[in-house]
Amino acid sequence: MKIRNICIVGGGSAGWMTAATLTKMLPDMNVTLIESKNIGTVGVGESTLTYINKFLKLLGLKDEDWMSYCNATYKTSIKFTDFADKGHIYHYPFGTRDFSDAGSIADWYYWKLLDPKIDNYSFAEYYHPVITMSDQNKMTSNEDGRVRAFDFPSATAYHMDATLFGQYLKEKIALPNGLNYITDDVVKVNQNEDGSVKSLSTKENGELEADLYVDCSGFRALLLSETLKVPFISFNDCLMNDKAIATRLPYINPDKEMEYTIENAIVLVENSNEFDNWLNEVVFDLDHFRSAEQAKTKGQAGPISKS
Ligand SMILES: Cc1cc2nc3c(=O)[nH]c(=O)nc-3n(C[C@H](O)[C@H](O)[C@H](O)COP(=O)(O)OP(=O)(O)OC[C@H]3O[C@@H](n4cnc5c(N)ncnc54)[C@H](O)[C@@H]3O)c2cc1C
Repeated sequence: MKIRNICIVGGGSAGWMTAATLTKMLPDMNVTLIESKNIGTVGVGESTLTYINKFLKLLGLKDEDWMSYCNATYKTSIKFTDFADKGHIYHYPFGTRDFSDAGSIADWYYWKLLDPKIDNYSFAEYYHPVITMSDQNKMTSNEDGRVRAFDFPSATAYHMDATLFGQYLKEKIALPNGLNYITDDVVKVNQNEDGSVKSLSTKENGELEADLYVDCSGFRALLLSETLKVPFISFNDCLMNDKAIATRLPYINPDKEMEYTIENAIVLVENSNEFDNWLNEVVFDLDHFRSAEQAKTKGQAGPISKS
């Protein structure tokens, strides 16, 4: 069957990224996106890895196009404070290692062998110039190549407002490129005799039929899980944290409210007018936390770790 019509179910991050890509890359295709106004999006997920650069490049998006719209900032590493122990720091730097002063990756291990007291944290510092920059809250486009092994376009990712990013993709790419946008609820997924998806019954727009359906309905997995019975594979048995609560709160006292996060975040917030509110994310092991004693203070579950 020749595919002419594609229907995307869902208007969260996945839905808008799919819609922007398909409308831009396949201009002759009829692309429809349906999203419910009654079922919200996850609405968080503001942190990216460098893989996002491939997506941005595919769409031809330049930083100056979208970053200010989405309250975005650069991210060059992930710093885990108090990771293994109180006071212990673990860095996950982006980009490649700089071996030009060291002979090989073994150098640091020899150093550690001779001086076991050196912190493991120094491994990242030793090979990644980006650590020194991020510890000093500095950034460079590195056009002159003075920071070795730091390729700005590929070694930086972003923190962003994911909801605004979805809106940007919708307003600036998907709609101008001819997306057919429907706000409605899918109430039933109709199947062919062979089990494949035939059409979608909606609350207000009747039946929608397409040659290809993309399930971007989030955890509901309306087509994949509910209809086609593709099993959900849980990693719960090997995750330390299995629940997350996200709230948006206005600042009252940024100094006090930010004291548990990394220093760079404090500097960022103090210096930025963009961050008029802060997305607080609390990740914890709910089953473990709600022990019998703590269950007495129901509804007051506190964080075990914060991200
Ligand atoms: C606390 C927290 C922190 C996170 N941090 C990060 C992070 O740093 N980086 C990262 O990449 N990810 C992060 N994530 C994950 C990320 O937020 C989610 O994976 C992502 O937002 C999911 O988007 P989605 O489009 O798949 O689904 P959703 O946002 O759930 O969107 C689902 C869409 O489907 C629509 N829909 C559902 N049912 C129907 C129906 N019957 N009819 C019509 N429409 C329907 C809804 O209206 C909605 O538009 C985090 C998640 C949480 C909870």
